[in-house]
Amino acid sequence: MMECIFCRIVAGSSPASRVWEDADTLAFMDIHPVTPGHLLVIPKRHAACLADLTPQETGQIFTVARSLAGALRSSGLRCEGVNLILADGEVAGQEVFHVHAHVLPRFVGDGFGFHFNASRSRPPERAVLDGWAGQIRAVLGPAKK
Ligand code: AMP
Ligand code: ZN
Repeated sequence: MMECIFCRIVAGSSPASRVWEDADTLAFMDIHPVTPGHLLVIPKRHAACLADLTPQETGQIFTVARSLAGALRSSGLRCEGVNLILADGEVAGQEVFHVHAHVLPRFVGDGFGFHFNASRSRPPERAVLDGWAGQIRAVLGPAKK
């Protein structure tokens, strides 16, 4: 039996409320919705984390997420804004290790929010930002820029 719950959903051996499907991508309702209409978009192929996706799969996930965000806004479900959220790694909040993007309808007073640490209140010196930018640029190949 398949270990991964999202692979079981793709295979049809676990239930899901499906909203969209194409050759490579599936979208379905999150079983513990943060707000009504909360969706997940996954690649059909098992990929544990962002680095395991091809650029094409990555693009397709966000293309589908964008369409679903539009659909949510005209669906009649309460949706005054949308968050696209992808948790990559346990420390980032990933609990299911089959990549998924959350498409989260938002509305005033929905009770969801982000918490930022205190250090965010004061911007770093430009030299510090430039240093971080340089570290990241240094490991990017030309194809990824
Ligand atoms: P994350 O914390 O980003 O890994 O989110 C995992 C999400 O998957 C959570 O929002 C769960 O509610 C959702 N989830 C887990 N199992 C299922 C399932 N069987 N069907 C639909 N959503 C699920
Ligand atoms: Zn899987």
